[in-house]
Amino acid sequence: MSDSNTVTRELFDEVMVPNYAPSKVIPVRGEGSRIWDQQDNEYIDFAGGIAVNCLGHCHPALVKALTEQGQKLWHLSNTMTNEPALRLAKKMVDATFADKVYFANSGGESNEAALKLARRWALDVHGEHKTHIISFKQGFHGRTFFTVTVGGQAAYSDGFGPKPADIFHAEYNNLESVRALISDKTCAVVMEPLQGEGGIIRPTDEFVKGVRQLCDENNALLIFDEVQTGVGRLGSLYAYMDLGVTPDILTTAKALGGGFPIGAMITTTDIAKHLKIGTHGSTYGGNPLACAVGEAAFDTVNDPQVLNGVKAKAELFSGYLKQINEKHQIFSEIRGKGLLIGAALNEKYQGKAKEILMAAMDEGLMVLIAGLNVVRFAPSLVIPDEDIKQGMALFEKAVAKITNR
Ligand SMILES: *Cc1c(COP(=O)(O)O)cnc(C)c1O
Repeated sequence: MSDSNTVTRELFDEVMVPNYAPSKVIPVRGEGSRIWDQQDNEYIDFAGGIAVNCLGHCHPALVKALTEQGQKLWHLSNTMTNEPALRLAKKMVDATFADKVYFANSGGESNEAALKLARRWALDVHGEHKTHIISFKQGFHGRTFFTVTVGGQAAYSDGFGPKPADIFHAEYNNLESVRALISDKTCAVVMEPLQGEGGIIRPTDEFVKGVRQLCDENNALLIFDEVQTGVGRLGSLYAYMDLGVTPDILTTAKALGGGFPIGAMITTTDIAKHLKIGTHGSTYGGNPLACAVGEAAFDTVNDPQVLNGVKAKAELFSGYLKQINEKHQIFSEIRGKGLLIGAALNEKYQGKAKEILMAAMDEGLMVLIAGLNVVRFAPSLVIPDEDIKQGMALFEKAVAKITNR
């Protein structure tokens, strides 16, 4: 009906629900870590579709999987299983602590499944009293009503009527605050093994191990939400692998599909058995098209060369950011792990993260923010070093506009 010349940003305000405030730029094409907009302006992508495009844009392995499966079989009902889903599940089981996989279409849905499973497990194994869920302030777990209530920002969960009950929020990196809330009524503690949306906050070793121990002492499940940290983002296949702590349930999405919507909840046989036939489900979850792309993404990322590359590229990133900071004195801290990096603004530049994001866009660079005071980077795990160098030159220009140096 309309070619891309007649599709403008103005159309968004006309026809879209106003829950987002997208930039003026409308990208039409991407390759690797480069993106082009309607006017053919080029951008370097340090945002990675919010930690989704783990292999950049249109990676050949993903395009191949998508087009090959696209010619074969797209969708079945859950009355039948399919080869791509079984292959991907087998690979996930082989590579992790888990024995069983449940496929969903997003992070929120994967967490919804994890939370329902924890509640059902607790009811079956321990009885009706065990309904409490502990999660963390500033945590993020999705936008379904259950997951957004478990998330730690009341602003996202208020205003929709009565919330799911028995959800309590502790403070991240504060073990005493968990100890104060946990009891034999607790069925699960839900945490991100590095808070993403909450500002790129790493947990201390002591905290993660302490939470695991408190869960064990109180017969509560530990759920790791690895929707943002999983599939190589932090330099290991999953973040738990580097923490010396194994969760009971883990959720993964974002990078799992490399840009194609897919999510999964993985767990042990003993816990999984409580999601009996008919207790939970999804029309699209585990569909062949998503799983074929997921399999290709998983195979490509779960490779020592790629994972070691993440660590090397992370060094490169923080090196450039420190150089920029030496010159411009804008950040109080460069933090994060692997290729999930936060540059926290110092006192003088509080509240200016969005301004920096927009200044970067004007220079031809896409970055992210995490809250008002952190510039976030979640680039492709295989971004060429040369793109990092060029992107950082653009980032310095953007920063210079803010600091006027
Ligand atoms: C993005 C994110 C989610 C939500 O995923 P959706 O696919 O948007 O539903 C959940 N948890 C974490 C940690 C995330 O970063």
